[in-house]
Amino acid sequence: MFYNKREQIDINDLRNSLTERGIQFEEHEINKLFNSLKFLDNTGDTLSRLEIFANAHLFKLDKNSRFDLLRKIAIGCGTGLNDHDLKLFEKMSHRLHDITELANDRNCSLYVDAEQTYMQAAIESFGQQLSQKYNVGSKNIILNGYQCYLKRMKGVIEHEVQAAEKLGYNLTLKLIRGAYLSEERELAEKFGVESPVHDTLENTHNCYNDCLKLAIQNSNSKSVIFLASHNQDSIELAKSLIYGKGINDYRVRFGQLKGFADQITGQLSQEDFKTYKYLPFGPTEHVMPYLVRRGQESK
Ligand SMILES: Cc1cc2nc3c(=O)[nH]c(=O)nc-3n(C[C@H](O)[C@H](O)[C@H](O)COP(=O)(O)OP(=O)(O)OC[C@H]3O[C@@H](n4cnc5c(N)ncnc54)[C@H](O)[C@@H]3O)c2cc1C
Repeated sequence: MFYNKREQIDINDLRNSLTERGIQFEEHEINKLFNSLKFLDNTGDTLSRLEIFANAHLFKLDKNSRFDLLRKIAIGCGTGLNDHDLKLFEKMSHRLHDITELANDRNCSLYVDAEQTYMQAAIESFGQQLSQKYNVGSKNIILNGYQCYLKRMKGVIEHEVQAAEKLGYNLTLKLIRGAYLSEERELAEKFGVESPVHDTLENTHNCYNDCLKLAIQNSNSKSVIFLASHNQDSIELAKSLIYGKGINDYRVRFGQLKGFADQITGQLSQEDFKTYKYLPFGPTEHVMPYLVRRGQESK
């Protein structure tokens, strides 16, 4: 919401942004919105990009943090949402809350799937809100998924690292390259917009490796960095960082699909790394196309 490339914005930027979108508000409402985006120690008149990244969630999972202007923006910003959709969102947020509470009681991690960009902003936002709430103390309940084939991802991971430090939650994430390359490019071409995915495989590899370096170098003993990849070079890079920093304490974990790169999984587990095999299951008509797509990617 209101993501602005400038380092700082003030209340007039926010006011103008809403007015340009035809959203009407009272003065007390804009003040409430502006203040809700600030970190607790911010007593100034501006908001940083980091505050916007960490706090500007339009669809708040915590019911107590919702207020009327957020509803007006959600409905008024041109996405075609209506009050009925917001009721459905309310139901969904209850379910997400129930699932995460249960996982939290059992100290069991939830791995959040990252999907196509037309829905990923919402998934990412929910995952971030839950991470801030549940990845605290000794727990790593939510592993939000970050797709490094996206051009914006290095900036996102930089912000995620800073937000975790600033707000005091554990840096806990799942890094993937991303599974919808062709679809993303086709959609971008269809709508005449720049493709959100890197233009070359090399750029995707560089982005993945930069993000894993950022995450590992900024991790601490309470972090979990889950590298879901079959790429030998990225895995070797991660191992060299782990050995170099002397952090062989299972904070960095590895996952591969069952039946894919089993030699990598076997080698990692022999070297005493925590490794996971990802086992898709479900109706044949869903699982077979999924496996075919994964097979095509890893050719
Ligand atoms: C445990 C697990 C969880 C996963 N969860 C998710 C998830 O939540 N969301 C999701 O989207 N995927 C998920 N995946 C799938 C994952 O994105 C693919 O397995 C992955 O993209 C394959 O990449 P790789 O790291 O194994 O490496 P490689 O085989 O080295 O790289 C292939 C990947 O590079 C990218 N690529 C290929 N060609 C190009 C090109 N020309 N230009 C730019 N980029 C290119 C694509 O992302 C392609 O998939 C998961 C995989 C595993 C193992």
